[in-house]
Amino acid sequence: MHTASTPIEYLKGVGPQRGELLKKELGIYTYAHLLEHYPFRYIDRTRFYKIKQLHAELPHVQVLARVLSKTIVGEKRSKRLVVELKDDTGTMELVWFQSIKWFEKMIQVGSVYILFGKPSAFNGRISMSHPEIEAYNPQAKKQGNLRLQPVYPSTEKLKLANLDSKGIQRLQVAALETCLKEIDETLPEYVLKKHQLIPKKAALLNIHFPTDTDLLTAAQKRIKFDELFFIQLKILKNKLLRNRKFKGVVFGEVGEKFNTFYTEKLPFALTGAQKRVLKEIRLDTQNGVQMNRLLQGDVGSGKTVVALMTMLLAIDNGYQTCLMAPTEILARQHHASLKELAGEGLVTIELLTGSVKAKQRKSIHEGLENGQIDILIGTHALIEDAVQFQKLGLVVIDEQHRFGVEQRAKLWKKSVVPPHVLVMTATPIPRTLAMTLYGDLDVSIINELPLGRKPIETRHFYESQRLRMFGFMRDEIAKGRQIYVVYPLIKESEKLDLLHLEAGIEAISQEFPLPQYRISMVHGKLSAADKEFEMQRFVKGETQIMVATTVIEVGVNVPNASVMIIENAERFGLSQLHQLRGRVGRGAEQSYCILMSGNKLSNDAKLRLETMVRTTDGFEISEIDLQLRGPGDLEGTQQSGVLDLKLANITEDQNLLQEARQSVIELYDTDPDLQKPENHLLRHYLEQKNPGISWDKIS
Ligand code: ADP
Ligand code: MG
Repeated sequence: MHTASTPIEYLKGVGPQRGELLKKELGIYTYAHLLEHYPFRYIDRTRFYKIKQLHAELPHVQVLARVLSKTIVGEKRSKRLVVELKDDTGTMELVWFQSIKWFEKMIQVGSVYILFGKPSAFNGRISMSHPEIEAYNPQAKKQGNLRLQPVYPSTEKLKLANLDSKGIQRLQVAALETCLKEIDETLPEYVLKKHQLIPKKAALLNIHFPTDTDLLTAAQKRIKFDELFFIQLKILKNKLLRNRKFKGVVFGEVGEKFNTFYTEKLPFALTGAQKRVLKEIRLDTQNGVQMNRLLQGDVGSGKTVVALMTMLLAIDNGYQTCLMAPTEILARQHHASLKELAGEGLVTIELLTGSVKAKQRKSIHEGLENGQIDILIGTHALIEDAVQFQKLGLVVIDEQHRFGVEQRAKLWKKSVVPPHVLVMTATPIPRTLAMTLYGDLDVSIINELPLGRKPIETRHFYESQRLRMFGFMRDEIAKGRQIYVVYPLIKESEKLDLLHLEAGIEAISQEFPLPQYRISMVHGKLSAADKEFEMQRFVKGETQIMVATTVIEVGVNVPNASVMIIENAERFGLSQLHQLRGRVGRGAEQSYCILMSGNKLSNDAKLRLETMVRTTDGFEISEIDLQLRGPGDLEGTQQSGVLDLKLANITEDQNLLQEARQSVIELYDTDPDLQKPENHLLRHYLEQKNPGISWDKIS
C-alpha cells in the first residue's frame, strides 16, 4: 500500500534513477516530501491576453487567436514553422524549430487556438517560440477545467530527467491519487473552526491544483498556519517544560538598596520604556519560575540602568549577581559605568578578567564565596573559571550574539536553583523573528531614547562628493569634535580591502597633516597591545580622528566622538551600518553619520543607504534587513525551525504567526499536557516526531 511515508522511487513515473535525483536535488525522499514541494507561483490560465497587450517583459501568458497562415521556411538547421495569427486587436507569430511536421499537420488555418507561451519581440513584432497550443473549445471553458497552473521549482539535472515543472506536476497528480486518502488531519476540529481553516486534504489538493483563486488562498493559509503552529507548539512546549523543571529564586520585595538608588542616586528620570521593562522583570522574578528574558534596545537606550536596578532587586533579596560582557574592554567599561552609577557605599562591585593578578583574584574568589561581593563583572571567563558564588541569583549577559549556547547552559549548573537570566542586546531583532527564534525567551523592548537626546543626522555622499566630506570633517574638528572613519574588512577580499584601507589612510593623512591633526589607527594587523594603545589615545582625546576597520569594539563609549564616517558603506549590511552608527550620538552634541559610497549602486544598496538616512529606529531597520536578506542570513536562525518553513514567510505572514502563536498559548493554558481527547493528535505529533529542538538548543 502506498502511504505518505512510502519511498519516492515507488511512485508511478519515478523509479530508482529519478528517485535518486529527487533525493539529491530536492531532498524529496517520500511521497509526503513530494507533496510538500509546493508550487512557487501559478500561471493564471483563466486570463486571456489580447495581442495588443503583449510585450517582451511579460511572463508566460495565454492568448486566444485565429490562425491566418502557416509556412515552413529556411533550410536545414534554420528550418522552421512560422504560424501567423490574429485577434481583434492585432497579429502575431508563432515559431517552431522542432517537431515541425507534427505541428504543421495539427494546426488548421482558420481555426481558433489557445496559446500559452512567453512573448518576445522580434523585428518589431510579437512572437512566441514553441508555445503550448490547443484547439479552443468553448464547451471546455463552461465545464470549468481551465485553472491556475502550478509552477514548481526544479533543477537542471531534474530537467534532463524530464522532471521540469510539468514533470513534477505529473508526479504530484500520481502522489495525490495514490495517497491523499491516507493523509491525516493534523489540527483539531475546533482549531480549524476558530481560524477558519480548510481541512488538510483539501489544502494539499488545492495548493497543487487550485480550482480557483479563493480556494488557492484558503489552501495557502491552511498550510502556512500548520507550519507556524507546529513550530510554536514545540517551542512553547519547551518553555513549559523548563518552567516546570527549574524553579526560580523569588525576589519577593523591593528593598532598601533599590529604593535608595532610585530616590537618591539615579541622576535622571527613567523613560517610560525603562519603567515598563522593570515592571516586566519584577513580575518575572516573583512567581517562582526562572526568568529568561531578552532585553532589546538600541545603543544608548539605557539598558545598563535597567540591568543595575534588576541587580539591586536581587541583592536586596539576599542574592549575588554577575554581568558578563563579550570582551575585556567592554567588561572594564561596564565596571566603570556601574561603579559610577551606583556611587559609593551602596554595593560591592568587582571586576574579574584574564589580566587580574593572582593575589587580587584570590581575594575576589573569597569575596564571592563568603558573599561579600554583590556584583561581579567579567568576560565569559566568569563561568569557565572555578568561580564559586555563595548565592547567585541573577546573571546579566551583554550582547546576546556573541554568547554561545553551551556557555549559557553552564550557568544553570552554578547553583541548585538556577539564577534568573537577563540577556541584553543592541541588535534589534524583528518582532516576528524574535517570536520564532526566541519563542521560549520572553522579550522586553526599550523603544524609546532618553529625553533630550538629539537623533543622529545621517547623510549619504557619493565618491564624487569626497571633498565636501573632508570639509565637513575639518569643520567638526574645529568645533572640538572627534571623528571615526571606518573601512570594511571582509575576509574574502581581504587583500583588496587592505589596499583600500591603506589608500584611505594615505588620503586622510594628507588632508589632515601633523601637527595640526593627529590620527589613531586600529586594524586587524595590530597586536592587542598596540590596538589598546591607539584606542586609548583616541579615548583620551589625544587624537581627533580614528581610522579603523570594523574592529571598533561594540559598545565602546567615547562621548566626544560625534561623527561616524563609513567608507564603502554600500558593502555593509543594514544592521552592521546601524551598529556602527550607534558608536556616536552619546554626548550632548549633535552627531552625524556620513555614508560614503561609490557612484554606482545596486538597488539593494540604494535601499540600505536610503533607509539609514531616513530612520534611526533599530526595529524598523531590522525589519527591512530581514526583508532584504531573508532569515537564513540572520544569526541564530539555524536551530530555530524558521528555515524549515516551506510556504510561510516570517516577514509577510506576521499576522498569521501571531494567530498561530496565540492559539498555541491558549492551548497550553487550558490543557498543558494535551490530555483532552480533542488534543490527542497534537500530543501524538509531539511524541512521535520527537521534535528535537530542546530548550537549551535555542539560544
Ligand atoms: P545602552 O546600554 O542601552 O547602550 P546605556 O545604559 O549605556 O545604554 O545608556 C546610555 C547613556 O544614557 C548613559 O550615559 C546613561 O547614563 C544615559 N541614560 C540612561 N537612561 C537615561 C534616562 N532615562 N534619561 C537620561 N539619560 C539616560
Ligand atoms: Mg550598553
